[in-house]
Amino acid sequence: MAYSKENLRAVKECLTARRSTAIAEYEKRQTEVFVKLPELIPVERSLSMTGAKIMSSALSHELTAETLAEIRSENERLRALKAKILTSNGYPADYLDIKYTCPACSDTGYVGIDMCACMKRELVKLGLESSGLGRLLDRQSFENFSLDYYAGKDKHTAEMNLRLLHSYAENFSGNNDDSWLLLGGTGLGKTHLSTAVARVIIERGFDVVYASAQDIISAFEMRRFGGDYESTAEERFFSCDLLIIDDLGVEMTNQFTVSCIYNIINSRINSRRATLISTNLTQTELRSRYADRITSRLFGEFRPLLFTGRDIRGQKLNQK
Ligand SMILES: [Zn+2]
Repeated sequence: MAYSKENLRAVKECLTARRSTAIAEYEKRQTEVFVKLPELIPVERSLSMTGAKIMSSALSHELTAETLAEIRSENERLRALKAKILTSNGYPADYLDIKYTCPACSDTGYVGIDMCACMKRELVKLGLESSGLGRLLDRQSFENFSLDYYAGKDKHTAEMNLRLLHSYAENFSGNNDDSWLLLGGTGLGKTHLSTAVARVIIERGFDVVYASAQDIISAFEMRRFGGDYESTAEERFFSCDLLIIDDLGVEMTNQFTVSCIYNIINSRINSRRATLISTNLTQTELRSRYADRITSRLFGEFRPLLFTGRDIRGQKLNQK
């Protein structure tokens, strides 16, 4: 599992901020209550000492079970006393608890050495947001891929493509997975299934980037011509677990653009990272448009999937 470094940093910052806010709010409530109910000060102080002892013994196993049980029962007694003082003065019993967003990890993001579920959830959320898929993600999933727009042999093909890509997404390991070349005309479901693949793989905790060939070329151009361009977007084209290049072939082709595309594809193959490319071009058109070094990579290393049928967008328009 390889979350993007950038997203990991952003999520950690967000959790740290949550934790600081929870503690600051607790301290504010504490100051307020201590002024009104000074008898709580020694109780709260003793509680933090027993709490610290229980924590450190969990890490060091220094204390005997008997001593630990004593400390725990003292801790319970103090908690009950504190709740009693608070409630009898009109405060909720938990008024002086720190209210973390995630009590499981106290907003640290980790339970022991394991990443907490809350942190994984945030990473997925950010992964979806930063994938480049935007609103496509809301509309296109494996579940709502309809086979009704295909007939006869085309339906069989579409069904097989759906099954293969669904199973690919469910079993994606982030290590030496297959790369795919989705071939076929406009409106045959290539983008829909690419988006569905992206969603499942992001939700499983991998870093996915979805970009058009033109987006990739623009990123390279910015580095080439722009002074202080931040290169994280471009780095992610190389480092993400799955790169989806949508609509290869609509970009302008010249020596520079071809070398950008080759650079990405080749480097990902060499580092055993998966790439999914969709294109409206036929194999013959791809050959005439791109240099041999690209097409030999595409046809040698990628699994081709052919999409056939009648343009779904056209069919939907006719239904209206
Ligand atoms: Zn948590």
